[in-house]
Amino acid sequence: MDNKVVTRFAPSPTGFMHVGGIRTALYAYLWAKKNNGTFILRIEDTDKEREVEGSIDHIIESLKWLNINWDEGPNIGGSHEPYLQSQRLDLYKKYAQILIDKGLAYPDPYTEEEVDSFRTKAESEKRPFLFRDHRPASTGVSLGGPENFEKWDGSKPLRFKVPEIKSYHWNDLVYGDLSAGPEALDDFILIKSDGYPTYNFAHIVDDIEMGVTHVMRGQEFISSTPKFLSIYEALDIKPPLYATLPPIMGKDGKKKLGKRDGAKDVLEYRNEGYLPGAMINFMALLGWNPGDDREIFTMEELIKVFDISRIGHSGAQWNDEKLDWMNKEHIKKLSLEDMKEEIFKYLPEELKSEKIISIVRERVSKWSDINDMLEKGELDFFYKEPEYEKEKLIYKNSSLEKVSENISKAIFELEKINEKDFTTDNVKNVLMQIANSLESRGELLHPIRYALSGLDKSPDPFVIADILGKNETLSRLQKAV
Ligand code: GLU
Repeated sequence: MDNKVVTRFAPSPTGFMHVGGIRTALYAYLWAKKNNGTFILRIEDTDKEREVEGSIDHIIESLKWLNINWDEGPNIGGSHEPYLQSQRLDLYKKYAQILIDKGLAYPDPYTEEEVDSFRTKAESEKRPFLFRDHRPASTGVSLGGPENFEKWDGSKPLRFKVPEIKSYHWNDLVYGDLSAGPEALDDFILIKSDGYPTYNFAHIVDDIEMGVTHVMRGQEFISSTPKFLSIYEALDIKPPLYATLPPIMGKDGKKKLGKRDGAKDVLEYRNEGYLPGAMINFMALLGWNPGDDREIFTMEELIKVFDISRIGHSGAQWNDEKLDWMNKEHIKKLSLEDMKEEIFKYLPEELKSEKIISIVRERVSKWSDINDMLEKGELDFFYKEPEYEKEKLIYKNSSLEKVSENISKAIFELEKINEKDFTTDNVKNVLMQIANSLESRGELLHPIRYALSGLDKSPDPFVIADILGKNETLSRLQKAV
């Protein structure tokens, strides 16, 4: 065996892909890529009752949007096909047979009602329910031996006969030494009576078959790890390395991230106009840090710097403001062409002008904010003359006379600029010269901004003048006077 790193993301198709799942996928992906290894996508669809129609497509679409591309898995295949567990049933039977042959698996002879009554009894006696306390005599109870087993015909669940009841100690790459006592071990079901394996069994068979070297997943699996380790022991196969990821906490930092604060469908973030690169960047930092104060990374940069040893222990906190900030940083890095393509998707025909791009990009943190700008009329000045009450032109406790006087000065100076030189910088030079000669710059800049845009808060007046051009700018200023 070579020591090539193999990681996998193994979602169950039980609903939409949320940020917690994506972060797991991302870390597994980054670790594989960093080590020139293989990243596998495997769909764990063996719980037919919990399966939600459409979720496999949704998982695939989400990962693709975020550029978390698998080397092996659905749609592209690979040397361990197929990648849907429901299509691998023979393989689980093969491994089950190995355990049966070793005397380590037996058919569960009880009805569901009987198992329930054992459970109720244990609960009423305030002790944990353990199936192994009810091992049927045919298993030889503690002695065991294949010759005593009832034959398994598939009509009953097949259970694992835990060979040794003991404590397990293992090393987690994130949390260090972990252990769990014998109560974590039980004769759990390997294959259900519907023919499908349980998660506990199937994922182990697949991790073995697919050569997985590093398993990354959430803390909820720690308590079951002794079960997994006992299966590896029974099969005489070395388990993979485990890297348990810290939970993602909600905004309050106390509870795990819930649907209300961000654990929503990741494709909703796409619909809101977040950039995939920003989402990746944000999620990478939810539970991992680069060891310095850098915060903005591309996927390529993440692949270089990502390291399991820098995954944290405590829950990382979700923060919408931070995500918005990060998205804005990523928007700044887009090429003009890319930016234009995105922004134009949101603009009505009459606003599709290159000149508007700089204004929009300054003022949004995600593309859907453009809708808010349009709704508030923040871009109307671009194609219609603003309407406003003249008093609004007055800066603080100045007067209408002053407004008129100052704007007239501006008109006089702006007239001198050639139409083709009417740029943001040139307009700025002229206007700032006048503004600096006044008691307060606002006495000029406020009325100009208002006269050009009709808005209290607008892009700076020089940019607007540039966008409107010399004629329109002067006409709006004249009108104000
Ligand atoms: N199918 C499991 C889940 O979606 C995968 C857990 C694992 O990575 O082993 O939770």
